[in-house]
Amino acid sequence: MAPGRPPAGRGTGGPRGSQRKTTRRRRRNSEELEPTQMTTWQPSSAPVPEGEIIIERGSTAKDVGPKLNRSAADIIRFLFLQGEIVTAVQALSDDMIELYAAEVGATVHLVDPGEQQEAALLAKFFDEDDLDDEIPAEPRPPVVTVMGHVDHGKTKLLDQIRKTNVVAGEAGGITQHIGAYQVSWHGKTITFLDTPGHEAFTAMRARGADVTDIVILVVAADDGVMPQTVEAINHAKAANVPLIVAINKIDRPDANPDRVLQQISEHGLVPEKWGGNTICVEISALQGIGIDELLEQVLLVAEVGELRARPKGRAMGIVLEANLEVGRGPVATVIVQKGLLAVGDPVVAGAAYGKVKALIDDNGKAVATAGPSTPVRVLGFSEPPMAGDEMRVADDLAHARSLAEARAQRVRLIGHQPVAAASGARLEDLFEQIQRGETATLNVVLKADVQGSLEACTESLRKLERDDVKLVIVHRGVGGITENDVQLAKASGATIIGFNVRPDRRSRELAESEGVEIRTYEIIYKLIEEIEAAMVGLLSPVFEEVVTGEAEVREVFRVPRIGAIAGCFVREGVITRGSKVRFLREGTIIWKGTITSLRRFKDDAREVAAGFECGIGLSDYQDLKEGDIIETFDEREIPRTA
Ligand code: GDP
Repeated sequence: MAPGRPPAGRGTGGPRGSQRKTTRRRRRNSEELEPTQMTTWQPSSAPVPEGEIIIERGSTAKDVGPKLNRSAADIIRFLFLQGEIVTAVQALSDDMIELYAAEVGATVHLVDPGEQQEAALLAKFFDEDDLDDEIPAEPRPPVVTVMGHVDHGKTKLLDQIRKTNVVAGEAGGITQHIGAYQVSWHGKTITFLDTPGHEAFTAMRARGADVTDIVILVVAADDGVMPQTVEAINHAKAANVPLIVAINKIDRPDANPDRVLQQISEHGLVPEKWGGNTICVEISALQGIGIDELLEQVLLVAEVGELRARPKGRAMGIVLEANLEVGRGPVATVIVQKGLLAVGDPVVAGAAYGKVKALIDDNGKAVATAGPSTPVRVLGFSEPPMAGDEMRVADDLAHARSLAEARAQRVRLIGHQPVAAASGARLEDLFEQIQRGETATLNVVLKADVQGSLEACTESLRKLERDDVKLVIVHRGVGGITENDVQLAKASGATIIGFNVRPDRRSRELAESEGVEIRTYEIIYKLIEEIEAAMVGLLSPVFEEVVTGEAEVREVFRVPRIGAIAGCFVREGVITRGSKVRFLREGTIIWKGTITSLRRFKDDAREVAAGFECGIGLSDYQDLKEGDIIETFDEREIPRTA
């Protein structure tokens, strides 16, 4: 084994990703335990260097020893006594390094490889203190996030405010799309993050991106304070963001606004009406009642907050969402926090960089610039950055590029570090493992439709971790479930979790033959519920979706009075009229519904088998493109062996 860099984890070239922690119960083959110099160790009384010692994650005993004035053997011996067998050139987990540092009384600061160089680059090229001093700050619009329990009307409210019907196209309780829009009210602008639910809010905050100035907490007057309401209150408190309570659904006969006031005051939010300082507004998102008053209150709170930012100069912003778009390449939704972002600016966000090719505002119009609190879609990045990444403007493209490359390098180094051994439990076996008193590890390969939902799912999954159930995300990414994902899951004993994405036929077949479990969800809530249930051995019956047919769209016709018809080629199985369908574009679900009409040539057909062409009538989803896949499926309950 070559000295220096640690060997890759079990199954070289297998599991990768941002997973840093190694499991504490790693077992190694005896041949991997190469001889080390166990005999030379420092006297345990030797002093350790003073002050904070910077150690890169994934360092080996050989790297760490000298930094702490100890030998590799000291560390190996110590870890051996703790029940961990490691070699001198094997990457140590964060826990191991910290444990040893504590043992010898050293203060260590763990950094990702390359983190220091990156910080130096940032300080050199992106220091904006001078600009901030030169250009005076001016008032900027408030940025508002709507939070609250599922079904309490967050989407409806955002919808009512924007006056477009977002709810109709939604898959379920929680809106998955992450974007933002601005409204103008009485000549003043308010920016809304179109991300109802606290998942996205927390995911952003977890990445150090505080973009929200004000939280609107929606509480349904007929339902009252619910678990997610309480969570939202806690998140807003933790973020120190002012909160306005919107008591919704007051049009309902069973609405009881006073009960809501009572309940929120139990959580420390005493309404103004009762002498406290929590602003409460009674609204009906459905009927548009109280919306004006709510917006007025938002502006009042914003005024008190004296929100200001530098309106000119190099821009800085936060990425809300990013994805790859056909024909456009990487597109990132960014909310500008200060300065003026302009077309042609060299930008960097995370490991992505580029020159801004175009800026598109929330109405889909191309704009030349975007100032503070403005959400814009930015075209021109080399790759999609991550939600929560800070976007900065460089003085020239080369600087943007060098920073992006330093970050990419860091990400690669992290990716090459060994990950957890392939000993994960399947979702169904999780409880059994817990009951046997073992620490169960659920290894997961997580795929989602957009960066924002990926972050939200990751965040939610992380929260489920307990002492006896460890969750290891072996790999995560945006896009459909590929054969690669299946292979990775197989190699790492992982369950594949897909959010708004599907496996294609080949990956589905591979998963079946390799015995890899794929679970797909369209609502975050359901995903969490199911994993929580698995942890207590209460997995509800699974309704397996059996794919019955698959057709590829070859052409879309418009027929007067009938609408759009997709000319398709049936690639597999049978397409039957009336069956449930899903439209997929590059593995991502774009629509779900039923087939209304099915034709072979000019005749109506009940079913069309593989190898034939057919026309499929599309009721309300007309936006199909050539190359999209129409998948039909049945739902079947899988008997569970208790
Ligand atoms: P979310 O999960 O919080 O985003 O909730 P939605 O906005 O999807 O709303 C959930 C359900 O409540 C939908 O069926 C809405 O039509 C309904 N709803 C929302 N606001 C109101 C309201 O003010 N009055 C009534 N009666 N129904 C509402």
